[in-house]
Amino acid sequence: MKKAKAHGFRKAQIELEHCLTCRGKAVVQGVFHELVCIDCNGSGWVMAGSRLVLSTDELVTQLSLKLQQAQREIVMLKQGSLKSGSSAYYQQNNRRGAGGSNYTGD
Ligand SMILES: [Zn+2]
Repeated sequence: MKKAKAHGFRKAQIELEHCLTCRGKAVVQGVFHELVCIDCNGSGWVMAGSRLVLSTDELVTQLSLKLQQAQREIVMLKQGSLKSGSSAYYQQNNRRGAGGSNYTGD
């Protein structure tokens, strides 16, 4: 198993891409069970370009950074759909929104 040499580096975000072996699922289909994918340390992610597997401690930090990034994107997407008002999901979950009410006002 190849390991990325991350020691001595500052905690900079490493560009990640989906592991080809498990296609980002972190597990592979074994004979009876799904098995943890060893090519990506069970994370589903490898370093972009080199496709090296990250060590577990490095992986924790990188996944945290990636998760934070993803959460920021989710917030931005939610805000975007709030502004446009075109999201069916939003209207479904907030019927007080303009045009989303069955209330006749009579
Ligand atoms: Zn994998």
